[in-house]
Amino acid sequence: MTDRMMWAVGPDDGEGWEAINAQTEAGARAQWAEQNGEDELPDWVVALRQEAWDELPEITGADWLRAGLGHTCVECQELAYLAFGARIIDGQPICGECLKEQGEIA
Ligand SMILES: [Zn+2]
Repeated sequence: MTDRMMWAVGPDDGEGWEAINAQTEAGARAQWAEQNGEDELPDWVVALRQEAWDELPEITGADWLRAGLGHTCVECQELAYLAFGARIIDGQPICGECLKEQGEIA
């Protein structure tokens, strides 16, 4: 057992999400707000519990994709989602558009 409780925390409509270890949802949101220079806890910050992350020493971009979340494509810096054709290649998220350009998807 671990006492880590990992959350994916960020703005409900934007980028800047972080993996945060906190015992409660409110704690995770508060930590994000503090790290991002928000004086008060904004309503639009959401925290999604990620049990699969509790055992991971480090949360990589691939882990975000596996959780069904988006992560920056290593090629173009746009957000990549598995649901939109992204893949994890050599442990790195690559978006569907870049895969097309590279001819990896027929
Ligand atoms: Zn890309």
